Amino acid sequence: MIILSVNSGSSSLKFQLFTMPQEETLVLGQIEKIGLKDSIVTVKYNGKKDVDIVDVNDHKQAVTILLETLTRIGVLKDIEDIKGVGHRVVHGGEVFDHSVVIDDAVVQKIDELSSLAPLHNPVNLVGIEAFRNVLPHATHVAVFDTAFHQSMKPENYMYPIPYQYYENYKIRRYGFHGTSHFYVSRKVCELMQRDPENTNIITLHLGNGASITAIENGKSIMTSMGFTPLAGIMMGTRSGDIDPAIMTFIVDHEDKTSDEVLDVLNKESGMLGVSGLSSDARDIISKYEEGNPRAVLTLDIYANRVAETVGSYFVKLGHVDALVFTGGIGENSSFIRERVLKNIQEAMGLELNWDINASTIGEIAKFSNDASKSEVWVIPTNEELVLARDTFEKI
Ligand code: ADP
Repeated sequence: MIILSVNSGSSSLKFQLFTMPQEETLVLGQIEKIGLKDSIVTVKYNGKKDVDIVDVNDHKQAVTILLETLTRIGVLKDIEDIKGVGHRVVHGGEVFDHSVVIDDAVVQKIDELSSLAPLHNPVNLVGIEAFRNVLPHATHVAVFDTAFHQSMKPENYMYPIPYQYYENYKIRRYGFHGTSHFYVSRKVCELMQRDPENTNIITLHLGNGASITAIENGKSIMTSMGFTPLAGIMMGTRSGDIDPAIMTFIVDHEDKTSDEVLDVLNKESGMLGVSGLSSDARDIISKYEEGNPRAVLTLDIYANRVAETVGSYFVKLGHVDALVFTGGIGENSSFIRERVLKNIQEAMGLELNWDINASTIGEIAKFSNDASKSEVWVIPTNEELVLARDTFEKI
């Protein structure tokens, strides 16, 4: 059976086509710069990579171009062969704690949740509607970034602010990257031959956006992102947690509106803000190696913040069977993994093989020794596969 996983962003559409249950990838790619001139259509299949530059005006057109491309390159005979489409949806609020088949009522609920994710849910819906129009007979499934974290308890998801803000506006911690934390936590159990229900794990999704999750007996009990994906550890361009009074202080001193300061915290902070160089970890690491003091400070803060969060989740969990690194940085940067782990190694009783760490780039590896109190793994994430699995299950 052929299943398509899609992730619609504000100006992009990422996709991957699977045969299920074999979980084989037939083709993957993305359409970037939708709505701008010279959109880029990239498809990878059979070891080939095609890149086309065309004008794609909106998501509806992007969907048409995508489906035409799939038949043109011969991976599909007919678009009707697609029996299911898994859609990534950023915010499921308190309504969705698992993936659901999309019908008009689900569309309406996702729309109602747009106030919690104004940048994401509306654009996710545009993708859903476009695919439902072109593939009306396929089963469409919504997979939510927040769903895995709905198992958190109130003492972990409530903020210590007046209770009516929760009652009136549902202000609370939701957490994001749930699909990724879920995928790597289940994968590590498979590799360790352990039952998820008896396993405690800390997952570190370190990409451009980044979050850390404490998983107790298979369930997320705490995660570092909050009401929005701005919270938690330091990221590529996002500040992570800061004293909220900084916001009004900048408004008062810089002639900026609160929306503009929020933009600074989302887009000009984190690694980019501190280093003044780049939001890309590779650039910062290369400047670090040249001794650039701001690059050194950036990575010192980053390693500290990640380590503090892991440390607090270790205390929460009591014992940790595995730590898992994933995301662009977690999968590829042995240097950042080492910087983080050096801060927590002693407290957590970790015994590590630094040679294996150093040689692990973008592949599955365990780099703890037998004497280590927790196993430490690198596992590339695969959110698209979770979308395809959840969709296949519902057909
Ligand atoms: P996104 O959150 O946009 O999905 P990714 O998970 O792709 O981001 O992660 C992007 C980050 O991963 C960037 O900071 C990039 O520098 C970093 N990264 C990718 N490859 C490497 C590498 N080999 N060494 C260090 N950092 C890397």
